[in-house]
Amino acid sequence: MEIAIIAHDGKKAEMVQFLNEHAEILHQKNIDLISTGTTGSKVEKAGFKVRKFLSGPYGGDAQIAVRIAEGLCDMVIFFRDPLEKHPHEPDIFMLMRLCDVHNVPLATNPATAELLMKAV
Ligand code: PGA
Repeated sequence: MEIAIIAHDGKKAEMVQFLNEHAEILHQKNIDLISTGTTGSKVEKAGFKVRKFLSGPYGGDAQIAVRIAEGLCDMVIFFRDPLEKHPHEPDIFMLMRLCDVHNVPLATNPATAELLMKAV
């Protein structure tokens, strides 16, 4: 199972905390984590194995969106910061749209991510 982990800058600390709280599940052998660049570095620092793509503003969200379109990514946990503007907003919407097109579970806040983790 491939899970994409993405967090906007204002939410990266919360994402790391979330990962640590669910470390036991996420360290399972059958789970592959993928991430946008900067989030991925934080995920690695927290002790997880992760495949990193480009940083979000440089196309990382678009790269993950492609994996969703190709049926390679099974779940997206995206801690968005709704109080900040993002230069790559079109890529973010593309990613979320493709989750809906391909019926891929998408959590955009910790409460939903928590529920998704129960289903892993
Ligand atoms: P980042 O990108 O992990 O490289 O910061 C996340 C995003 O803004 O989509």
